[in-house]
Amino acid sequence: TDRHAFVVVANRLPVDRIDGAWEASPGGLVSAVAPVVREQAGAWVGWANTHDDSLEPFDFDGMSLVPVSLSHDEHQQYYEGFCNATLWPLHHDLIVAPQYHRSWWRAYREVNARFAQAAVEAAETGATVWVHDYHLQLVPAMIRAQRPDIRIGYFCHIPFPPVEQMAQLPWRDEILRGLLGADVIGLQREADAAKARQAMQKVLGMDPEELRGRVGSYPISIDVDEIRAAAESPAVQEMARCFRRDLGDPATLMIGVDRLDYSKGILHRLWSFEELIDDGRLDARGTCLAQIAVPSREGVRAYQDLRDEVEHTVGRINGRFSTLGRDVIHYSHHSYSTEEAVALYLAADVLLVTSLRDGMNLVAKEFATARRGRGGALVLSEFAGAAEELDQAIVVNPHDRAALKAAIHHATMLSEDEARRRMDAMADTVAAFDVRRWAQAFLHDLRDPASAAALSP
Ligand code: UDP
Repeated sequence: TDRHAFVVVANRLPVDRIDGAWEASPGGLVSAVAPVVREQAGAWVGWANTHDDSLEPFDFDGMSLVPVSLSHDEHQQYYEGFCNATLWPLHHDLIVAPQYHRSWWRAYREVNARFAQAAVEAAETGATVWVHDYHLQLVPAMIRAQRPDIRIGYFCHIPFPPVEQMAQLPWRDEILRGLLGADVIGLQREADAAKARQAMQKVLGMDPEELRGRVGSYPISIDVDEIRAAAESPAVQEMARCFRRDLGDPATLMIGVDRLDYSKGILHRLWSFEELIDDGRLDARGTCLAQIAVPSREGVRAYQDLRDEVEHTVGRINGRFSTLGRDVIHYSHHSYSTEEAVALYLAADVLLVTSLRDGMNLVAKEFATARRGRGGALVLSEFAGAAEELDQAIVVNPHDRAALKAAIHHATMLSEDEARRRMDAMADTVAAFDVRRWAQAFLHDLRDPASAAALSP
């Protein structure tokens, strides 16, 4: 295979096969990292979302894509099992109980070894390899064991668990040693970086001084230009008017835009919305909530149960407060394009982000960016990484029902002046550190870890 000076390793390749042809897949990671890969004529190692194991490396849009194959069984044990029924809940405050199965762990180890091997084969001498996310935590050490010449970076897109929770994981030592194969380990927030350092210190007895220089925070961001362009597009603005009209032209349009995931706090949002109507603080005739729930991990039991409960709850609330021809909640279990998402941001008055735990929450950053100069309000959970930067949002603890109700009510009462001032301040904060700067900041520290050490608190 061809060797490259820059290699990205992620669970998924940045493409989808649609009607037999490869197309760029949407998403923050792709828009952040693909330009860097292209600039350096680099390679991207990942799963192609197909069980066809005859795929060979191919070129796409200036990148060399290296497919890693997964059998159906591996997909179940590694991806649905260990990644999304063990690690995901472990990294999201145990909202559901993580399941620990030795067969899932074996599959995780085997699949990580396959990704590491593909990366090693794609990397030229002295190359830089950037490994992404919780699916591939063993890969840094697996690469390091074979290739001391490679500079290895690792970025964790999801929160890091406190050491007391991490301690549950029967394979905590192996996972932490896997990460420590990297020269630089990045997390979303300084709080996550501190938890990672503490776990390495407590579980492995590492020296805190050494960790300070290697484990740091790099809050991810959005493609600001892309969102702005969509928000200024006449077609998207027309779509926004259509959405609002189709939703019955409510006096107040609230929206929620999430993957259907228990970490997003969708039920907490629905319960608060229902109580506010009950109390007469929201008017069912003038208010509408449009909830997009993007299908996610449908093979995992906890996600099936959540879908049942969300749909039951939406049905109950609509049964109580909708009138013929006018629903209080519009619920859609589909995924939408970026343009459609931006049109919905433009159509809305209020975005509800009520995550119980969330690495960053890009939807909040996109909403503020799209709405610059347009006012509106953002209710934002303090447990989303974005709350650290977006302090002009209405920041709330979603577990505190009275507080969440007050925050939603407050969002409907902001004066136009205040709404605009807050939204513009948030949009400017996001614009000052977009996703390209995020990638640059990480790669800068990876090239020169001495400067990373100097920047750490
Ligand atoms: N998104 C989308 N279509 C949808 C809903 C969401 O393309 O129907 C995008 C959204 O614009 C954002 C991403 O999906 O860029 C969600 O990122 P976020 O960090 O909010 O949540 P995650 O799904 O990564 O937990």
